[in-house]
Amino acid sequence: MEYHSFAKDCIDELKVLQEKFNKDYDLDSYANWFYDQATGLLTFSSNEPELNFKYFEVGSFSHKSDTWMWSWHNENTSENAKVAAKQIKDFGERCGFTKLTNGCFEIDEFEAWEFVAIAAKVINGIGAYRPVNDNGLKIFLVITEHVDNETAKNIKNKYIECSDHEYRRVAFVCQHLNFATRVGFEESFETLEGMELSEEDDFQAWCDQCESIRVLEDGWNHNTMKFAKLRVVCEACYFKMKELNLGSV
Ligand SMILES: [Zn+2]
Ligand SMILES: [Zn+2]
Repeated sequence: MEYHSFAKDCIDELKVLQEKFNKDYDLDSYANWFYDQATGLLTFSSNEPELNFKYFEVGSFSHKSDTWMWSWHNENTSENAKVAAKQIKDFGERCGFTKLTNGCFEIDEFEAWEFVAIAAKVINGIGAYRPVNDNGLKIFLVITEHVDNETAKNIKNKYIECSDHEYRRVAFVCQHLNFATRVGFEESFETLEGMELSEEDDFQAWCDQCESIRVLEDGWNHNTMKFAKLRVVCEACYFKMKELNLGSV
C-alpha cells in the first residue's frame, strides 16, 4: 500500500462520512459545543435535548510552529482520550507509514486532515470535528458514536470535579484514608489507574482498621459502613492514597 493514494482515498471517504454526519445530526443548529477528556464525550447544546457523541483525540496542529502532534505523543492529553489513537500508530507500524508513527513534526494544515481521515478510517469514525483552541492550537477529533442522553447522563455521573485534578472518575475511600499517614489500603479488586471499569464496578478502598471490622462483622453491613463512612474522591486522589500506603518508602 502506498501512503499518498491511501491518504487520498481516506479523504474522499471522510468527505462522504462528514456530509452524512452533518445531515443526520444538523450540527449547525447547535450554538455551543463542549468536549471533555475525562468522560470522552463531545456535547452540543442550546437546542433541547443536547446531543452527545463519543470521540477520541487524533492530534493537534499548531499555527505558530506549523507542527502536528499525534495525541498519543501529547502528555497533556488524558489517557482515555488518546487510547484509540494508539491504534493508528500500530496501523502505521504495520504499513510502514512513518507519518503515523512519528510523534511530532512539521506539516501544512491540509495534511492534518489527511491524518484525521486516516484515523476515521482505521477506527471506524462516523465523523470528525475540529474545535479551535485559543492558544493557536487546532485540536482534531474523530467522533465514533452517538450516545443517547440517558447513557450520557450515566457517564457524566461517574465523574467529579476535583480541585487538584479537574474532571476525573469518582472513587470511594473510607474516612481514614488520607494523603499524609499510612493506614493500610484494602480494595474489593486489584486496581490500576486509568483501567476500564464495568458498569457495576467502582474504585473502592478502606484502611486496615475498617478491614478488621469488616472481617469481624463478616462483610459490609450497617456497622461497617458507619465506621468506614465512605467518601467520594477523584480517581487521581485515590491512586495518590494507594501509592502512599502501598508504594515503597
Ligand atoms: Zn477506614
Ligand atoms: Zn483529585
